[in-house]
Amino acid sequence: MRLSAAKKLYKSLCFSLCIFAVKPLFLQTMQDSKKLQLTDWLPTTNKEVKIRGWEELDVILFSGDAYVDHPSFGPAVIGRILESYGLRVAIVPQPSVNDNLQDFEKLGKPRLFFGATGGCMDPMVSNYTASKKSRDKDAYTPNGDKGFRPDYATSVYSRILKEKFPDVPVLIGGIEASLRRVTHYDYWSDKLLPTILETSKADMLVYGMGEQPLREIVELLQKGVPFSSLKNIKQTAVLIDQKTEKIPVIKDWEDVTINSHTACLGDKKTFASNFKVIEQESNKLKARRILQEVEGKTLVINPPFPTMTEKEIDGSFDLPFTRLPHPKYDKRGPIPAFEMIKFSINIHRGCFGGCSFCTISAHQGKFIASRSQESVLKEIDKVANMPDFKGYLSDIGGPSANMYKMKGKVQSICDKCVAPSCISPVVCSNLDTSHKPLTELYQAVDKHPKIKKSFIGSGIRHDMLVPEFNKNADPKELDAYTEEVMTKHVSGRLKVAPEHTSDPVLKLMRKPSFKYFHMFKERFDKINIQKKLNLQLIPYFISSHPASEVEDMANLAAETKDMGFQLEQVQGFTPTPMTVATVIYYSGFHPYTLKPTRTPKTKQEREDQHKFFFWYKKENKDWIRNTLNKVGRSDLLQVLLPENNSWKKNKTAHKTAQHTFDDAIPFNKRKKKVSRAPKKKRR
Ligand code: SF4
Repeated sequence: MRLSAAKKLYKSLCFSLCIFAVKPLFLQTMQDSKKLQLTDWLPTTNKEVKIRGWEELDVILFSGDAYVDHPSFGPAVIGRILESYGLRVAIVPQPSVNDNLQDFEKLGKPRLFFGATGGCMDPMVSNYTASKKSRDKDAYTPNGDKGFRPDYATSVYSRILKEKFPDVPVLIGGIEASLRRVTHYDYWSDKLLPTILETSKADMLVYGMGEQPLREIVELLQKGVPFSSLKNIKQTAVLIDQKTEKIPVIKDWEDVTINSHTACLGDKKTFASNFKVIEQESNKLKARRILQEVEGKTLVINPPFPTMTEKEIDGSFDLPFTRLPHPKYDKRGPIPAFEMIKFSINIHRGCFGGCSFCTISAHQGKFIASRSQESVLKEIDKVANMPDFKGYLSDIGGPSANMYKMKGKVQSICDKCVAPSCISPVVCSNLDTSHKPLTELYQAVDKHPKIKKSFIGSGIRHDMLVPEFNKNADPKELDAYTEEVMTKHVSGRLKVAPEHTSDPVLKLMRKPSFKYFHMFKERFDKINIQKKLNLQLIPYFISSHPASEVEDMANLAAETKDMGFQLEQVQGFTPTPMTVATVIYYSGFHPYTLKPTRTPKTKQEREDQHKFFFWYKKENKDWIRNTLNKVGRSDLLQVLLPENNSWKKNKTAHKTAQHTFDDAIPFNKRKKKVSRAPKKKRR
């Protein structure tokens, strides 16, 4: 209410009196053929607060990202949500921490609380590469400039705020806070760190997607409940001082106590064993409350909210985003992350893949929250009216492109389920994997009068399109989806992520056997030839993942070369907080079995593994020859670097899918000759 009154006040003022007072009141950036006004963004300065006629703010948000008012940018979503509850919200993007800290004081004290987030990515991932080198660019800053986001930004911002305004509550959220909510391994300092609530001194942490907990927090604060007594909001975490406070007893909630932070510091296996509980409770529909002792305090992680309903998620995407960066950046250059997604549409949240190296389900949940077709089309209307839109949508996707509207057939079975993945090791028989709603959505999007073409830029789970793996689905429907994607929604290259070729590594990654990638490639090649599409299949791979030995990488190189790939989309494993793979990396134990599991960790090992991706580079050839000769694998050498090289990129599939290497045999025993399929005429 207050907001719309302020908007009206501002509009009448600027139309009658202040039209020249604040520049730029009317901006060149246009949407829906109407000129946007500065008040269409959340205010970022005192001047912008004043334009709205506000004397006081209810919430001030501090963010490590530049302010892009778009539903894919978390800080903007949180700001818009709070605004929709009638609050006066301002955002201070990328406050400077290298001066007299005036950015933290310039907007004064908010009535309710400060919010702090490191941004859309963990700041350590934004600032450093997998080999811990400083990155040259920050995708969430104008011009890709670096140096605008401190390391461990959430804690840095929160501590400054607590020092300057000790009596104002600080609420932290976003990826960094969410995934560091409990004792975790920090790769960059090579240490176990306690919950970020301890290092940041914040009063409360919201984990996962913030809409539902924020609604409850704001409702209670508006009723006059003091912030300090909000200890049992779902999907939040708090630290309780054991000397002065009691853990609230909540009827209907069960508790589980995990090993204390001190015990984790003392024993790696103890730390590893915590993760199974944390992951299972994060993915359960009826989760327990997690308790952990942290140096005289108790960390209380309340259970998550149920998955958002279609109405709730639509409500979030339908908020009045300008879909543009704040005009203050007009002269600083484009923001790379925004340029990448400005014509893309996110259709769902969550991922039931549960890959060991990935944090999506820990943050967004295992259950899929899908938007309605109407909400997606409404957003497409907005995109289609952007002045520089030429009719091409760059992505209709989500964390995985093809999980839209997928859920359990019998909900009561899912209600009790503790599996971290619905598709590993096999596709759960209770999972409805129909691609029909998604195919229908693509078709509805393509009927939009202003859409010339819509692409799928997000990675597709290719394994779900292989009937031999996805036995739940109608094979004809899977083929129809694959054909729809290939013929209408791929701009030359289809990205998929088999991640490795070694089945033991894939098992640990919670990915299916590589044989299913062969099967998918066969289908891909068939459609490619039949429809004369000339598309490229681009597989993504990871080196140095737990359980991956250099021998596995040699096999990976040979097997993918044998399939006609010269790999480009590859990365070294980065141990980010709150994944199974990171727990294994640090502790040496698998958190579910507590069996020792090795990870290549030294710089040399990691570099060696990576070199195999680039067998075709001149500078790697001698090293590869020596390494393979040394271990008696001249068979692999013959595949990778034969003396008579007649190999060409992108050959089509063999008639029958070949799984050419037996990964279960240790490297030093794999001396048999590589079985090669008969040579086929290339197209
Ligand atoms: S029962 Fe099956 S579909 Fe449901 S959550 Fe568990 S694994 Fe997923």
